[in-house]
Order: sequence, then C-alpha cells, then structure tokens
Amino acid sequence: MIPILARTRRGLDAARHGMTPPVVLVPTMGALHDGHRALLRRAREIAGTDGSVLVSVFVNPLQFGPGEDFGRYPRDLTEDLAICGAEGVTVVFAPDRAGMYPREQLVTVDPGPMGQVLEGASRPGFFTGVLTVVLKLFQLTLPDVAVFGQKDAQQLALVRRMTADFDLGIAIDGVPLVRDPDGLATSSRNRYLSASERATALALPAALRAGQEAAGDGSEAVLAAAGQVLDRASRGDPPLLPDYLALVDPETFAGVKPGYAGTALLLAAARAGKTRLIDNMPVTLGRE
Ligand code: AMP
Repeated sequence: MIPILARTRRGLDAARHGMTPPVVLVPTMGALHDGHRALLRRAREIAGTDGSVLVSVFVNPLQFGPGEDFGRYPRDLTEDLAICGAEGVTVVFAPDRAGMYPREQLVTVDPGPMGQVLEGASRPGFFTGVLTVVLKLFQLTLPDVAVFGQKDAQQLALVRRMTADFDLGIAIDGVPLVRDPDGLATSSRNRYLSASERATALALPAALRAGQEAAGDGSEAVLAAAGQVLDRASRGDPPLLPDYLALVDPETFAGVKPGYAGTALLLAAARAGKTRLIDNMPVTLGRE
C-alpha cells in the first residue's frame, strides 16, 4: 500500500476527510527505524483493517535548543514513505516549517513541574516545544488515538498528562522501548555514532540492567549499581559523558522515596562523542 502524502494543511484536510475511523496518529520526526516501526504496527493493530493510520513527519524546531542538532538531524522522506508503505500507513503528513508554524508561535504549552526535571532540566524549553507541536498535531489531525514510545518516557508521561489536564479526549497508547540486538535503544541519532562511540554507548543499557538486578536491595542499591557502570564508562576511551541517572515514579517523575513499593523507572542520559542518548528500564521495588 502506498500512503497518501500530504505536505500542506490543505492536503491534510482533504486526506483527513477520506479517513475511516478510528484514526490513529503516530507523531515522529522521521528518519524512521525499528522503534518507529513498532509504533506503526501498534497503530495499525488499534486501527484494525478498516481504520486509518496517520503518521506525521516533522523535525520540530521549537524543541531544539541553540547548539543542538536541528540542522543536522537526519531527514529522509523517501525512505520514511517506503517504511510507512510497508507498515500499512494510510496517510503521511510531512509539513514544512511554515506549514506547521505559519506565524510566530507566541502561545505555547507550559509543561509544569514534571517538565522541569531530567530532560527538561538538561534541555530548557524542550518539553514546551514538544507539547506545543503535539497539541497542534492533535488539533490538525483530530485523532481518536495517538501512539507514543516508552523510549521517551518523560515525554509519554507529559503527553498523557496534557491530554488529561486539557480534556483533549484522545486515547494515548504507549509502546515498549525497542532495542537493537546489541542492547542499544534504537534511535534516529544512533546513525551519528562511530563504532567506538557505539561501544561506549552500550554502557547506558548495561548500567540500567545492573540497576534492575540490584532491585532486591532497594532504591539506593539500584542507583549505586547503575552509577558504578556509568562511572567506569566515563573513564573509557572514548569516554561516556553521563548527564543524569534517576529512579522515579513513572507517573509523576518525582524521585522515589525510601520505602517506595511498585514499579519505578530507572532513567539515564549521556553523551558519546557529540551524540546525546537516553534510555530507561522499569525496576520493581518491594518494601525496604
Ligand atoms: P522521534 O521521531 O524520535 O521523535 O520519535 C517518535 C516516536 O517514536 C516517539 O513517540 C518515540 O518515543 C518513539 N520511539 C523512538 N525510538 C523508539 C524506540 N527505540 N522504542 C520505542 N519507541 C521509540
């Protein structure tokens, strides 16, 4: 199946009129990989054979800070369309910057306290940019369901919260994180990594696994075990440059307190060379 490609709002409106419900939206920045494919498959599963899967491809300038990789972020619409075709996508909406932001975006979404920590602390303005574009995409495409990946766990939690707090009436579906066979979380940015940087980057999932394995000894042991692996990698060649390591309540993103029981989320961010990577794994904690 060849998806309909809409490059403008008018094109999208025309395509949207022909879409049979349920309409399932998958927002992406393109350069699609196996992680995105998992979202596309989930979207088709939710839509069923009669419903419609709508994929947006837009590298959102609002969520990139000065000095980040907006200019060099990988873009390959031809390959993206082929992948969307293979995964049964109905419509691809790929607007240009003026199509998405026809005027200066003066009013934006405030992500609140959950958007100030971790990714929000490391990348000021990031979640304002993300939630603003997601809200615009929701308004432009009017989906019944929207699918997001657990790879960006804080983003998923914030989208859920925005949808609830603004009564948007869209079901948010989360898809488990997809990894390459070597354990690295699949990411469009992985193509920036040299072979030696990639080997270094593997300390990120290794640290999270070490944390998971220490779960029986409590939250502090989890952070200590994961921290040790990151420390070792920070002395490697090339070095891993850790940004944060945190164990949080998956709904509020507040750090877990001693005595926390249930599933927590262990998250880490680090740089290998110039490439910033994030990863997370669930950790089940009992009573301490
Ligand atoms: P992006 O194109 O990086 O903005 O990602 C678009 C969507 O795909 C987001 O909801 C991501 O969380 C999701 N995604 C990206 N990589 C993965 C992965 N490795 N596993 C699961 N979901 C992913």
